[in-house]
Amino acid sequence: MSWIAVAQKTVTYCIDPDWLPYEGIENGQHVGISSDYIKLLEDISGYHFLLIPTHSWPESLELAHSKRCQLIPMLNQTEERDTFLLFSKAYFFSPKVLVSKKNLSLAQGLDDPNVKTVAVISGYRTIEYLNNAHPNLKQIVVTSEKEGLMAVSEGLVDVFVGSTLSVNNELFKNGLDNLKITGLPELEDELRMGVAFGEEELLRVIDESLTQITIHQHADIFNKWNKIQVIDNTNYGLIWKIMAVSIAMLSLLLAGFVSARKYNKKLQSKNTELLHLQKELEISNEELRIQSSRDALTSLYNRHYINQIIENPTHQYASVAPMALIVLDLDFFKNINDTFGHTAGDKVLLEVSRLLKRHTDETHILARWGGEEFVIFCKQQNLEDAHRLCERLQESMRNFSFSYVEKLSCSFGVAELLPGESLVNCFTRADAAMYQAKTNGRDRIEQA
Ligand code: GH3
Ligand code: MG
Ligand code: MG
Repeated sequence: MSWIAVAQKTVTYCIDPDWLPYEGIENGQHVGISSDYIKLLEDISGYHFLLIPTHSWPESLELAHSKRCQLIPMLNQTEERDTFLLFSKAYFFSPKVLVSKKNLSLAQGLDDPNVKTVAVISGYRTIEYLNNAHPNLKQIVVTSEKEGLMAVSEGLVDVFVGSTLSVNNELFKNGLDNLKITGLPELEDELRMGVAFGEEELLRVIDESLTQITIHQHADIFNKWNKIQVIDNTNYGLIWKIMAVSIAMLSLLLAGFVSARKYNKKLQSKNTELLHLQKELEISNEELRIQSSRDALTSLYNRHYINQIIENPTHQYASVAPMALIVLDLDFFKNINDTFGHTAGDKVLLEVSRLLKRHTDETHILARWGGEEFVIFCKQQNLEDAHRLCERLQESMRNFSFSYVEKLSCSFGVAELLPGESLVNCFTRADAAMYQAKTNGRDRIEQA
């Protein structure tokens, strides 16, 4: 702990009291994933974090709005929340899921004709998302995930949209075995810390502290609270090792019939070894999951993730007409590196990625395609919609005060997915339009 910690700064914070295992209040104490992160932040920053207990999530948001809570440690960024909170980088990712009765077919997710009513929790950003992306669905507002799940179980609504770990927790606790879970890849929790306006210094300390949390610490927290045991067959080496140890254990068990005592000790040590390997597998799977779809510098989606989408002809984005693609590349970016160094360049790239994030929402997929080139998928938006988004980005870049440089612009290429066209082809056209914008003088938008 640093010397500054002597004058320990106290930070007040509010949480969702009923969202375990992400976070909750039990006997007046903060528990759950975000509580483990707060403990790490206390160790790293030397700050003291003081929970202001509330009875509901809307009450916590209200206290943050009036600045009585300086910090909300775990929430998604939305346009509405941008009006009263500043957000850290995303530090915990978790997919959203749809919960329905077992017999309901949900082949097209939320677009399925079987889905007419959705339970949503008061104050959750799912409401904002559904208003934008699925305005025809009727929303039934509930106060907790448990109430939402009960409503589905009793047939009062068709589906409930929830977060993977907490839904799993509630299903397990309440024994709701007439329900099933379907993945909802279009909506993922990208959880961040939010601080009240005027707390820029606190945000800086939080962002700095978050970068000091190691991948193993992240994985330990994830494993401690994740009761869903999924073994992904991405790490064959470890799986073979586990199988080998399991076979060894089986042989030992058989041998045990002959001479149980003799092998008991060996069995125990093999068991410990197996647990170790299992833990190792869980950690590396989590590392792989994070690393495989995210860009390390900006935490936006990466090229690998985008390739998975565009190379899959059956991907939902290939059939959500209208669909538009934007490819954008920063102009003369190399000059920044050459003049101020690579670290300065990285800082500007981060600023650009934050600016892009601010202008996009759940109807977009925003990715860093390569060095200083980004891609935006615009779901259910046509060429004109995407063009307007480019204009807003262009305008916003003109007004943004970037570090190191007075002015920074970029060149945009836009294309709309044509009937029967592949995503790869559409992407190629958007990329070519971007190069055309470069040739035509940069800081321009060209349509394919
Ligand atoms: P243009 O307007 O033609 O796009 O010019 P440019 O200078 O932006 O393009 P060019 O392709 O010549 O250079 C891109 C530069 O981006 C080169 C490389 O040093 C820099 N770059 C790529 N990735 C990173 C990164 O992760 N960090 C930093 N700091 N720079 C990067
Ligand atoms: Mg460039
Ligand atoms: Mg480039």
